Amino acid sequence: MLMEIHQVSKQYKGAVQALQDINLQLKPGIIGLLGPNGAGKSTLMRILATISQPTSGMITWNGADIRKNPDELRRALGYLPQDFGVYPHLNSTEFLEYAAALKGLGGRKMKARIMEILELLNLQHDLKRPIGGYSGGMRQRIGIAQALLNDPKVLIIDEPTVGLDPEERMRFRSLLTDLSGERIILFSTHIISDIEATANQIAIISQGRLLANSDPALLLRNVKGKVWSVTIPDQDIQEARTKWAISGAIRREDGLQLRIVSNEPPLPQALAVPPSLEDAYLHVRALGEGA
Ligand code: ADP
Repeated sequence: MLMEIHQVSKQYKGAVQALQDINLQLKPGIIGLLGPNGAGKSTLMRILATISQPTSGMITWNGADIRKNPDELRRALGYLPQDFGVYPHLNSTEFLEYAAALKGLGGRKMKARIMEILELLNLQHDLKRPIGGYSGGMRQRIGIAQALLNDPKVLIIDEPTVGLDPEERMRFRSLLTDLSGERIILFSTHIISDIEATANQIAIISQGRLLANSDPALLLRNVKGKVWSVTIPDQDIQEARTKWAISGAIRREDGLQLRIVSNEPPLPQALAVPPSLEDAYLHVRALGEGA
């Protein structure tokens, strides 16, 4: 089971270069696509979901070009777009039966499958309630439910944690782990903590370019010995921002305690601290965007 992205670029009308020469391999596991707003994450996901075409480059699914045979991938695909809409008056089973019919799935087996999915997503207690009254987290789970109807080998979820409260966000992370296994799960986010606990591969994208693609441990190793803690007077913060890559700031009684990513100690009194993924992300972006 392998999805390969070869030299994919996408240029929208109006000359927006949304993706530039992306090369990436996706194997079973949880892959976090991390990048700031406007980086090109949704564009890439729409292309992988066969909704949109690259301007150049090619995607293969198990070695075959998806442009030549999109249905092969579509049968194996579950996709939750960012702007997923529901029919608010339907209840969960009605909605999922409708979604299944649109995908050409149906029959008695499908009813059992829908119940199974609702239980997996912990939605089995609200069968009669119209979806319109659901919380953000429940709506998002209904969105994932429709993406799971065909038991997909490839699950693509675009910014699933937007609008979720911290508890729902945590629940989403454990759901991702429950869903993983013999499946490729690609999800996008601009929030590092969403990825930290779940992803075994992190692809960092910014300004349409892939800046890094590795496992979290390697990303951390690359920034080891380059993260510093130093406290500065409050009024020096503007100058500090121009001089250093700052990954965090905490107000203390004696000033602002900064986390700084730098090859050398930023100030003689700076203390080296263990790196976090947040530091690694900042480091990768500083290197990539400066290039
Ligand atoms: P992300 O999902 O990382 O926020 P997007 O893929 O949505 O990024 O957008 C990447 C870039 O492409 C942005 O500059 C965005 O404004 C632009 N873009 C996205 N969709 C379109 C479109 N349909 N037409 C023109 N430009 C677009």
